[in-house]
Amino acid sequence: MQDIAKNIQRIKAEIAAELIKSGRKVEEITLVAVTKTHPVQDIETALKSGITHFGENKVQEAVRKLAMLSAPYAGFHFIGHLQSNKINQLLALKPLLIHSIDSLYLADKLHRALGRTNRTQEILVQVNVTEEESKSGVSFDNAKEMIAKIAGYSTLYVRGLMTIGKLDPDPEVSRPYFKQLKALFDEVRKDFPEGFDYLSMGMSHDWQIALQEGSNMLRIGSAIFGNRVHGDRK
Ligand SMILES: *Cc1c(COP(=O)(O)O)cnc(C)c1O
Repeated sequence: MQDIAKNIQRIKAEIAAELIKSGRKVEEITLVAVTKTHPVQDIETALKSGITHFGENKVQEAVRKLAMLSAPYAGFHFIGHLQSNKINQLLALKPLLIHSIDSLYLADKLHRALGRTNRTQEILVQVNVTEEESKSGVSFDNAKEMIAKIAGYSTLYVRGLMTIGKLDPDPEVSRPYFKQLKALFDEVRKDFPEGFDYLSMGMSHDWQIALQEGSNMLRIGSAIFGNRVHGDRK
């Protein structure tokens, strides 16, 4: 049995301790509790225990769970690979941020869907920094060009970048990739005077490293809710 409230308290304290080392403030960091595969009851518990942002990676699962959720929250984040035929269902859930825009094709479909309902959407561009085939994301080399093109869509606000580190038990393995994405983030940021300010990287096993390398948005699942029943970390 996981003590979700205790886990949240512990992680928040650990994040605060890590930030002190670099002189950064807790308010600069968004902690997204990743609730995929976990029951609605656990999301409710988290929302009553200091979590305000949570994320899901499958549209179908999010549709089912959000309908049952009664506790208030500041933001629902979509962090998984988005299939274009699920866009309308996702938009109905009013995601605060979609972390996983990984192609111009998807950006274009999203733009059209938003245009039909006169809406706008904040997104991150997912970069496959580790260049692993099993992962979604635009390649590092193509990222800048894609960001520039997506920024041209009137309905889409590119708020930053997202990546998934290596799923290696040793989190140090991911440090060079996090460094690389931070450098790209800083570079792109120069062309975006306003609003390009989220760097979403770091999960349960590697968030310390990600934070040290400049992340300001952590996506943490198993360290809060325990192991997933049917793990899918894509
Ligand atoms: C599942 C998932 C996470 C959280 O993973 P944990 O290792 O459980 O913290 C973070 N980001 C994405 C994109 C995920 O799919």
